[in-house]
Amino acid sequence: DADIAMYRAKTLDGAHTMLFDQAMHTQVFKRHSMESELLRAFENRELKVYDQPIISAQCGRITGVEALLRWPQADGSMVSPDEFIPLAEETGLINDIGLWVMREACQQMQVWHTNLSQYDDLYVSINLSGKQLVQANLFELIETVLQGISYKPKHLRLEITESMVLGDLAATQALLHQCRALGCPLLVDDFGTGYSSLSYLHQLPVDAIKLDRSFITEITENTRAAVIVRALALLATDLGMYTVVEGIESAEQAQICGAQGIRYAQGYHFARPMPLDQAVDKLKT
Ligand code: C2E
Ligand code: CA
Ligand code: CA
Repeated sequence: DADIAMYRAKTLDGAHTMLFDQAMHTQVFKRHSMESELLRAFENRELKVYDQPIISAQCGRITGVEALLRWPQADGSMVSPDEFIPLAEETGLINDIGLWVMREACQQMQVWHTNLSQYDDLYVSINLSGKQLVQANLFELIETVLQGISYKPKHLRLEITESMVLGDLAATQALLHQCRALGCPLLVDDFGTGYSSLSYLHQLPVDAIKLDRSFITEITENTRAAVIVRALALLATDLGMYTVVEGIESAEQAQICGAQGIRYAQGYHFARPMPLDQAVDKLKT
């Protein structure tokens, strides 16, 4: 109990005294049971990879999908990845889960390339965790997954967030250069939310930026948000990169983003993340 209180005190800034209480016990207990539930769910293959279509903002065609993890529960609800990915990162399970997502996403993509001839250039974008980036053999794992399914590297896009890079910049740079040399495009996700977004654009071998949803939420009421989106799209173009926006929920937001020179768009307005069979149906229509 003292240990739990001490860890809680350490999460706060500065010197603190923390008195243990029952709520802390309940929270720790809940966390532990969720951790073991997650491990069990992963081993029992209960986790799912959903796909959310990514649209060309200029012509409206589906050009790719983002693979998003889902943890379905017995009662039909889903635990959000925002909730269980930090747990998986803490326990180290994220490396296995991340590799499985990559394999699964590539296999799904191969199904589409073979069965839907009009989509033989569709790509899949996967989210990498910071923990995966510091894993010693990430590059070899990516290479192996790609070899295993004779899949073109340009069809596997890797999304990283700037907070992941904060650790060892030199090591991350080296790894990302390797992935880029292999042919996998790199995207900076949630762009504009961190402290040093711009500095990454010249320090990392980035192909695209994915503007954070917060810019889009504001874009119809707040003209400043539209100006920022246009400026970032221009900056990206001048640097030889392209821009993706996420979180488009209305036709008006889509129209404004298209007019600001955004290349790709994603959001509930076009399609929600969905299981493979539904995504295939969506692509066929
Ligand atoms: P993200 O990479 O920023 O993914 C976009 C999130 O926005 C997804 O939430 C998606 O469902 C949601 N979204 C898409 N369109 C809209 C929209 O129009 N409106 C709103 N309000 N939301 C929209 P999701 O699926 O809950 O994932 C949350 C986060 O969990 C992701 O954020 C990503 O950081 C992480 N994540 C998901 N799958 C994986 C994975 O396989 N590996 C890792 N490391 N992280 C993952
Ligand atoms: Ca993402
Ligand atoms: Ca994002």
